[in-house]
Amino acid sequence: MFRIESEKALLDCFRPIDRSTVAPTKSMEFPLYVRDYFTWVEPSGARTYLVFPDTASGKLLGVSFRRDQPRGASPYFCEWCHSVGSSAEIGLLTADASERRRVGISACLDLRCVDKLETRSNLTGENARHLARGVIEKMSEFARKSIF
Ligand SMILES: [Zn+2]
Repeated sequence: MFRIESEKALLDCFRPIDRSTVAPTKSMEFPLYVRDYFTWVEPSGARTYLVFPDTASGKLLGVSFRRDQPRGASPYFCEWCHSVGSSAEIGLLTADASERRRVGISACLDLRCVDKLETRSNLTGENARHLARGVIEKMSEFARKSIF
């Protein structure tokens, strides 16, 4: 559980080169109280944003993902929560690693991985908190290795 005090605090989670791409929505009410991670989709659907606590440093990190065109054949697979779905649900999200390099991950386009895992845990009896932690660990690993 963490708290984001203001729109400025939210933007400060992102790297300076990403900030101009981040569009908070009018419906956000600060402070935001967040359980696992915070995600939202730009109204046009072109971008998905993610703010999560890095498991190593505890610092909040923000990633501005762009949705890329679907490629290859269905079904698609989310590397973070292991859901399978159509190209409308799962696809390639890319982020700028630097000004010249982009990195991508195949994931749920709306990043509602934890919600899906919660449904799964209700069916299988797996520990939902444990599954959520696993997703945040993978997010941290991805962001540390490729972006921050
Ligand atoms: Zn997922």
